[in-house]
Amino acid sequence: MEKQQPLDVLVIGAGSGGYIASIRAGQLGLKVACVEANPYADPKGEPRPGGTCLNVGCIPSKALLSSSEEFENIQKHAHAHGIRVSGASMDVPAMIARKDAIVTKMAQGIEYLFRKNKVAYLKGRATILGRAEGGFRVSISRSGSIEEVTARNLVIATGSLPRQLPGIEVDNVDVCDNAGALDLRSVPGRMAIIGAGVIGLELGSVWRRLGAQVTVIEALPQLLPMCDADVAREMLKLLMAQGMDFHFGARVTGLERASDGSLSLAYVEAQGTAHSVACDKLVVAVGRVPTTSGLGLETLGVKTTQRGFVDVDAQCRTSVDGVYAIGDVVRGPMLAHKAEDEGVMVMECIAGQAGHVNYDAIPSIIYTSPEVAWVGRTEQELKDAGIAYRTGKFPFTANGRALGNGDTSGFVKVLADQKTDAVLGVHIISTHASEMIGEATMAIEFKASAEDIGRISHAHPTLYEAIREASLAAGTGALNL
Ligand code: FAD
Ligand code: AMP
Repeated sequence: MEKQQPLDVLVIGAGSGGYIASIRAGQLGLKVACVEANPYADPKGEPRPGGTCLNVGCIPSKALLSSSEEFENIQKHAHAHGIRVSGASMDVPAMIARKDAIVTKMAQGIEYLFRKNKVAYLKGRATILGRAEGGFRVSISRSGSIEEVTARNLVIATGSLPRQLPGIEVDNVDVCDNAGALDLRSVPGRMAIIGAGVIGLELGSVWRRLGAQVTVIEALPQLLPMCDADVAREMLKLLMAQGMDFHFGARVTGLERASDGSLSLAYVEAQGTAHSVACDKLVVAVGRVPTTSGLGLETLGVKTTQRGFVDVDAQCRTSVDGVYAIGDVVRGPMLAHKAEDEGVMVMECIAGQAGHVNYDAIPSIIYTSPEVAWVGRTEQELKDAGIAYRTGKFPFTANGRALGNGDTSGFVKVLADQKTDAVLGVHIISTHASEMIGEATMAIEFKASAEDIGRISHAHPTLYEAIREASLAAGTGALNL
């Protein structure tokens, strides 16, 4: 890259936000480069695109969730279909190799998309040096060599890292964060997880299905406070029935290692009683912190918030003209599709178009079994905001497809505005909730009413008929209940 030819835009970070932003920039005819520092699991130690989501997040976790679900179905559910299986066993290294192959294939796919869309992929660590004529100067360093690029606009897409707990050192052998927990070579007998958030529950589900006894230690008094309370209550029941053990209101106080290598995690319950849990592997899943250190934001005066996020407006503009920030490094849910949507928005703004993200219609999913998916407002949020609403609920026990599939757990809950009937929130617990939430997201995006959903033809027999039934239940009444 030559200094004298400034880029239209340099994207720092090739995660979900950064790589999608770069592709959109290429499509819009902008001269764009994307820089990535992290080698993740690349066998040659090359910085690899895809960020957290592809390398140590969404994709590998879903690969392992899928493998472990197959295993559990064969072991526990096949007999209900008349299938007799004996001696099924899990080859963990083969499962991990399958996951790695998926990640490698997708990382190669991103590099192909970069070439196709004329995105220059720069491998190295970016540091903002300051202003240059008509833009910004950034150094890119890798294995001792440093190059400098100039760009008219910068997009900070540096993502997030696992939050550390004082006194609990992650070695990714016995004490793991998400990266280590997605790369174990055998099933631990006992696994303790600190944090009952989305990541803790998904990783716990993988290893529980494969045979680990999973104990979850959570600081808050209840499960999933961001979910609708009906959903959180039902999920706690279902996860406990699967054998996951939970301790709420528990503050971790220390970790000790016995001479046989096993671990003892000490915690104090809300009433002050001290306890400990013995485990072979510990997973720390207590949230993520934005990555801003060493980036040189201060040299430009880019403002950050008290919690360390880059401060942005609704279109991801920072306090400095020409500098944007997207994804996990800014406010809002730490979700890959939210990062992608913001990436598209900022590039359309840079290209002079009207970029936009509807933050009220971003779906959230927990890929446990059954899955949890929701979009829009919860019942508590509507109450707090003083919005009058009607509720429609439909259980999968009354859905023919769910019966045929052999899993009738969960329900759909639709919240509709009392006066206008507009759909305000949809909450689903079910197998395939992750796919069904698409209809609800579309409804909220297009400002549909519950009656609209009730009048749309829904194929039979399908799980998503339950969304129609719950919408009808919020109005004139469900047909099949
Ligand atoms: P990232 O993906 O973190 O990418 C940032 C990139 O910037 C990194 O590759 C980093 O190396 C690079 N970088 C940082 N600093 C520099 C620098 N100075 N120079 C060069 N490069 C730099 N979200 C979902 O929507 N669905 C899911 O199912 C899901 N599952 C998850 C499971 C797990 C276990 C985890 C941990 C996360 C999961 N997430 C999921 C969250 C999702 O991974 C993130 O929201 C998403 O990756 C955010 O994208 P991003 O581009 O903001 O950041
Ligand atoms: P998430 O933010 O969805 O990744 O979830 C992280 C979870 O970890 C939240 O439910 C937090 O309440 C929980 N958590 C954070 N710190 C601690 C801690 N020290 N001990 C136990 N749980 C914690």
